[in-house]
Amino acid sequence: MTVTMEKIVNLAKRRGFTFQSSEIYGGLASCWDYGPVGIELKRNVREAWWREMVQKRPDIVGIDCAILMHPRVWEASGHVEGFTDPLVDCRECKARFRADQLDAAQCPMKPSMHPGQFEKCNLTEARQFNLMFKTFMGPVEDSANVVFMRPETAQGIFVNFLNILNSSRRKPPFGIAQIGKSFRNEITPGNFLFRTREFEQMEMEFFVKPGEDEHWFEYWKNERLSWYVKYGIRSENLRLRAHADDELAHYAKGCADVEYHFPFGWSELEGIANRTDFDLRRHSEYSGKDLRYFDEEAREHYFPYVIEPAAGADRATLAFLVDAYDEDEAEGETRAVLRFHPKLAPVKAAVFPLLRKDGQPEKALKVYEMLGEHFTVQYDQAGSIGRRYRRQDEIGTPFGITVDHQTMSDDTVTLRDRDSMEQVRLPIDRLVDDLRNRIEAPRQR
Ligand code: ATP
Repeated sequence: MTVTMEKIVNLAKRRGFTFQSSEIYGGLASCWDYGPVGIELKRNVREAWWREMVQKRPDIVGIDCAILMHPRVWEASGHVEGFTDPLVDCRECKARFRADQLDAAQCPMKPSMHPGQFEKCNLTEARQFNLMFKTFMGPVEDSANVVFMRPETAQGIFVNFLNILNSSRRKPPFGIAQIGKSFRNEITPGNFLFRTREFEQMEMEFFVKPGEDEHWFEYWKNERLSWYVKYGIRSENLRLRAHADDELAHYAKGCADVEYHFPFGWSELEGIANRTDFDLRRHSEYSGKDLRYFDEEAREHYFPYVIEPAAGADRATLAFLVDAYDEDEAEGETRAVLRFHPKLAPVKAAVFPLLRKDGQPEKALKVYEMLGEHFTVQYDQAGSIGRRYRRQDEIGTPFGITVDHQTMSDDTVTLRDRDSMEQVRLPIDRLVDDLRNRIEAPRQR
């Protein structure tokens, strides 16, 4: 079985994971809306990150900053000057490309060739293009009122460093985490949710004493790789790739990407960087506020070093979707099954009455309501039981619960496992505990 992006995009639309933004108006390029099933999946991805990176950790706290920030922030961070990609235009076909990614692009006039290779291509020299979106704050649209839509969530964390220190009495090593939207006017967005202009990031800045940074850099690389495995991605589809020296941002001492083997090749899922003390130093300089930490024991001030694992919620959602995709044969037909980890599955269980009579629908609705207090569940009574299982397999529901004739006399139901397709019989009053155990059970593929 080969997973293609086409299969994923089609399934995503058909079953309500994602829709093209503003579709009835012809769509807005590279912007996607999450449908009823997709939003549950993405919320679970975010939730899994937040639990592991904040709630379970005594040494990390969360924050949620405004998207619009003081324009000086982006001068201090280096984004106004340096957050650029090299852009080339083709004078002939008017298309635009990233000069450093021509090898991955197709010439619109001759798709079998890369831009610049076809005889009619007429590319301009590369020029630097700033990726930040601009808007105006207040009613006057002049240069004094320009603000930027944040291109990353990290800067909100750095500028709140003192607020967190003062309000929650932290000392290095400790981290501040944030999940939120970021905006980049990418020159060549594409590959579905992989690269869009509006996306959600999950970033954590871990502040450590200089000298301990190498240790924490190693630590976070391993932690972050394991997170994807824990939530169901097969380890053979993941790897860590260290950046070569010429790939490193000027302030970074080390950087490694967690890469996933997408249908379009190995690509970055998440970056883990040793950002040194660059950010806190720059914000101290630009704001005039001393952002050093005072170490009581050593009686010294220092700028903590920062280790940053920076992930994308949409990119991770795409990777979980692609990795879960499977096909099998049932009743002579090929069917799609999404083998999500139960914790990420949009719907945890579906409840079915076997027949639409003899009190079975009423009983099944009671089971549905009982489970609904604890989990995201669906009720379905339409069509044959085989078809109903299949609909759930396609959205990755791990458990199917059927109320049948026997239920009416002994209050037991059958529980079917999506992957093994095995069925067991359970008393209704044990269902909540049983499902919880099954959802929580460690599971690697
Ligand atoms: P790339 O090289 O793919 O442009 P980057 O190295 O610029 O990414 P970072 O600035 O390190 O990305 O951002 C951290 C994470 O945010 C990325 O690993 C990715 O998961 C996510 N991300 C960044 N840009 C986008 C985008 N345009 N669309 C979706 N997710 C993105």
